[in-house]
Amino acid sequence: MKLETITFECPFCCVSLKHELPEYTDNDEIIRFSDGFTTYPGQSFFSKLVQCPVCNEVFLIDSIEDHQPCRNDNPCTETMEPAFDRYFEFLKNSALTPEQDLMIRLEIWHLGNHHPDRNSELLNDYDSKEKWIEHLDYLETLLKETNPDELLFKAELNRYLGRFTRSLELLDKYQGDVPAKFIKTIRKKISKGNTEVFEI
Ligand SMILES: [Zn+2]
Repeated sequence: MKLETITFECPFCCVSLKHELPEYTDNDEIIRFSDGFTTYPGQSFFSKLVQCPVCNEVFLIDSIEDHQPCRNDNPCTETMEPAFDRYFEFLKNSALTPEQDLMIRLEIWHLGNHHPDRNSELLNDYDSKEKWIEHLDYLETLLKETNPDELLFKAELNRYLGRFTRSLELLDKYQGDVPAKFIKTIRKKISKGNTEVFEI
């Protein structure tokens, strides 16, 4: 996996920003986790939500259409990763499509499981952890049983929250095409009372 640096204007204060994006090739070996998080060997967490350090506004990196490769003669300010609270604020204030809303909510779940800084924030800060769990409860209600991917996330979220009976009920309804071995592993984890997210 290579990193590509893009430059663009902040959609709020118009300052020149630069941001690193991963560039994948077919040879990159993808690593998948049971909560839907995917990564590559040696890759850090790439958030879809980024912050401008000049005006402090946050926005989705996918919403930036007009960007150019970074030029050496163009001094740009590097984007920041938003803190946990900014994700929740962003969900409240933006006119997001249902798909974007769900994507950000899934990312908040993944932040707690896979982002080293956010994970330690959750372990050490009672209020953040409380907010995160509250968020997971709400995310569970949004995930639809009619969509096989969402049903699987829903089952995994219930296992993660220790609701094993509900998780099994959902798994019984699953008719998607993930390997049977994966479903079997989830069932095994449930029988052992294991709530941890695992690498597939
Ligand atoms: Zn800005």
